[in-house]
Amino acid sequence: MENCLFCKIINGEIPSSIVYKDDEVIAFKDINPQAPVHILVVPREHIQSALDKKATDGKMLSSVFSAIAKIAKDNKLDNGFRIINNCGTDGGQTVPHLHFHLLGGRPLGDKVV
Ligand code: 5GP
Ligand code: ZN
Repeated sequence: MENCLFCKIINGEIPSSIVYKDDEVIAFKDINPQAPVHILVVPREHIQSALDKKATDGKMLSSVFSAIAKIAKDNKLDNGFRIINNCGTDGGQTVPHLHFHLLGGRPLGDKVV
């Protein structure tokens, strides 16, 4: 997808600190970390948001959660972590390519739900 920031990162056109990749998923450090560990877990396919029909195609979400488990283990997040997906305007989504924030490394006390 042209002009999509995360597609450019996935294609290597924009540098990023990649921590994990497989056939379906790539994960890189957030440029503006909100916790000691703040990683974005992103499907390689351009899927606009959680409401995109493509979000429920195939085994992508299964691959995302497998990746999250591996990344959490690699980062020694044995005490727990948080996964966030911001969807659409009210959800605070700023990059229109589906992604999951993996946050950890400190107690995340500021719960909304
Ligand atoms: P959203 O607000 O859409 O849920 O999350 C977008 C995230 O992308 C934000 O946490 C923001 O810090 C991160 N981000 C924005 N631009 C870049 C970039 O160029 N590189 C990286 N690694 N992260 C970015
Ligand atoms: Zn994209």
